[in-house]
Amino acid sequence: MKFFTERNLTFALIGSIVLGVGIGAIAQATEAAPLVRFIESIQIFGKLFLRTLTMIVVPLVLFSVITGMANLHGTGEVRRKVFKVLGFFLLTSFFAVLIGIFYTNIIQPGAGTDAEELRASLPETSLQAAGETQESIALRAPESVIDFIDMQIDNIFQNPFKSMAETNLIGVVFFGLFLGFMLMLCGSQARSAIDFFNAINEALMKMVTVIIWLAPPGILALASNLAMTMGPEIVGPMGKYFATVCLALLTHILIVYPLILKFMCGYSPIKFFKGIYEAQILAITTSSSAATMPVTLRVVEEHLGVDKRSADLVVPMGATINMDGTALYEAIAAMFIAQLLGYELGLMQQILVFFTATLAAIGAAGVPQAGLVTMVVVFNALGLPLEWMALIIVVDRPLDHLRTVVNITGDATGAVYLSTSEGDMNPEISSAAEI
Ligand code: ASP
Repeated sequence: MKFFTERNLTFALIGSIVLGVGIGAIAQATEAAPLVRFIESIQIFGKLFLRTLTMIVVPLVLFSVITGMANLHGTGEVRRKVFKVLGFFLLTSFFAVLIGIFYTNIIQPGAGTDAEELRASLPETSLQAAGETQESIALRAPESVIDFIDMQIDNIFQNPFKSMAETNLIGVVFFGLFLGFMLMLCGSQARSAIDFFNAINEALMKMVTVIIWLAPPGILALASNLAMTMGPEIVGPMGKYFATVCLALLTHILIVYPLILKFMCGYSPIKFFKGIYEAQILAITTSSSAATMPVTLRVVEEHLGVDKRSADLVVPMGATINMDGTALYEAIAAMFIAQLLGYELGLMQQILVFFTATLAAIGAAGVPQAGLVTMVVVFNALGLPLEWMALIIVVDRPLDHLRTVVNITGDATGAVYLSTSEGDMNPEISSAAEI
């Protein structure tokens, strides 16, 4: 019997969270020296897990955007459509992140805890490892819009190797898209290079599935340490954080997409949801847009009436780069931790969250927990200590299932948008849904 299955991973993750929190809580209550020593000594597993995530994130993002772009070979007509869809995807991602930022500001899931105490509980080494303090967050915050643009120019037009070494995602994504676009233009001449990037991308995705098995011991270590140093007062904020993500996902799926369908596509949202529910069920069970892609393709063509050429163009592209659920999730998670630690996030820092979360979602692969990997980037941009990702990891699994549903719903909406705007919907199927 196979051991390394998705099901076993879920059990292992839940088990490690329960065990970790349990051991940590006992250690906090009893202050038993052997238990405290045990928790301290297993912290290397937490470190190992976080280090491997940091290790993989840049190559994963780079190869994912290069291949996403390079595989879109085709005629000028196809290229025009590609840019149209890219614009659409970017727009919906922006909406998603804005919704996430909005709710986090309103609900303030991380506020109200004793920030000083929490920060004091953070091991000195982790602050040093992250190389950050609150002052450094203030330092990297731009002072004006011009200042912000100036910083972004520095970041975007950067030596790609420097961007990679510094986990400067905007530089990595820009270079990757540029290179991918040029490879696409080169067409058959660049075939072997594109095949090479595709193969590496596949291998990197497989690396993620291996690395994720470091999560159970890693989470056991990180969760026990957090429970030992923080105690039960963290439960309330965690609940609020979970609810904030759910609320933002619901708003995006139940308000933004239906409005787009109705007003931009003239398509009935009810018919739309009735048509795609099979793909949504698969997304919630697999938490992978990539694994769901064949079904998404089938339902948009056969149930919604999207033209095959439009579907073939939009859905694979969406499964690679369009992750609205992931985008809003990354923004909320990073802001939640910043609030917990009592860091002030002014307008400029929120703009930084806005861009990095969007980019992190573009760079996330359509596989389970990929959003967690690219979260490193948002944390780095804000200067948040990576150890605090432990709190995010604890509830990442259920949220992954939910955000994947939003991700694939966004892909299907994109397909309807392209096909209706190009006027090539299959009239036999779509006429019933026209409004
Ligand atoms: N699991 C998500 C997807 O495949 C990506 C993520 O982790 O957010 O769409």
